[in-house]
Amino acid sequence: MKKDDAGLSTRCVHAGELDDPNGSPHTPVYTTTTFKFPDTAALLDVVEGRREGSLYTRYGLNPTIRSLEAKLASLEGAEAALAFSSGMGAEAALFLAHGREGVICLGDAYGGTLELLAEQLPQLGIRTAFVLGGELDRLDHLLAVGFGMVFLETPTNPVLEVFDIAALAEKAHAHGARLAVDNTFASPVNQQPLALGADFVVHSATKYLGGHSDLTAGALMGPQALLEPVWGWRKNLGTMPAPETCNLLARSLRTLVVRVRQQNASAQRIAEAMAGHPRVRRVLYPGLPDFPGHALAARQMSGFGGMLTLELDADTAATTAVVDRLGLFAIAPSLGGVETWSPSRSPPPITA
Ligand SMILES: *Cc1c(COP(=O)(O)O)cnc(C)c1O
Repeated sequence: MKKDDAGLSTRCVHAGELDDPNGSPHTPVYTTTTFKFPDTAALLDVVEGRREGSLYTRYGLNPTIRSLEAKLASLEGAEAALAFSSGMGAEAALFLAHGREGVICLGDAYGGTLELLAEQLPQLGIRTAFVLGGELDRLDHLLAVGFGMVFLETPTNPVLEVFDIAALAEKAHAHGARLAVDNTFASPVNQQPLALGADFVVHSATKYLGGHSDLTAGALMGPQALLEPVWGWRKNLGTMPAPETCNLLARSLRTLVVRVRQQNASAQRIAEAMAGHPRVRRVLYPGLPDFPGHALAARQMSGFGGMLTLELDADTAATTAVVDRLGLFAIAPSLGGVETWSPSRSPPPITA
């Protein structure tokens, strides 16, 4: 069996690992900034692209980074992947490389994504637009006037809105646009956007992929030819992850499937228990049969995720009091760790 044909949990462990001559079962950590060559001709072969090889760590041409990228690509069934220093680093490089004709953000998105799209990309002359789930006719109009990329999260934070990836990929492609899916909330265990027709998948690897709240990283997966221009942006923005972080992320990925399946099961049990509670007004969780996005989620996801939102039958003060009394929940803005996080949004932007 080739490693690429193996099941997801096997690929989490084995995909991308270097065959180390000293017998290390895992890719060694190359904590070096640069790589030496036997002579100038050998250096030029790599610099001028005649031969693949390690060269300089900021370029991502470091075996520890490349090994992680091969694993990340395999997890999303992608031809290639690029690792980044953060999820925002991955998104920024993607938009700079492929968003020049305009980016449409569909549905709610992560606070940093909204800030980048609403305030920063327009400063560079890149047009951006925001379309809610109930306004798909506006999406058609924006695609018709030449916007080149649709970006979305599914399920979304915090209301777990579920979007139809296959239908949206078809719609975008009919207009010559590309579809990018932020798969952070679902993880590759529960959802495979590329197989459904998306062109790109981005991840905040800080969340489920890292899974232990101890590393910050990002990932972009897609076709090799489309990732090449993104590679150029990452190289000169300098947003590659450190080899030490890549090693920690590869270590975490080996247990991704068991972690996420347990997180799915825990969230389902909590959602079901809370759905019957007299002081809970609404439970937003795609795994509940009466949730509006349930049928679509059941079709395009293989698990419903570890995130759920509770709406209490209480005012703000009483709701805050409930949050403050939770035993295992940390009051902190993140998700996907083996710890339990409160359903918090990203912190407000720091203003000078
Ligand atoms: C956290 C998050 C991001 C940003 O990731 P960082 O690693 O913090 O840069 C992007 N999208 C989603 C859905 C997130 O939850």
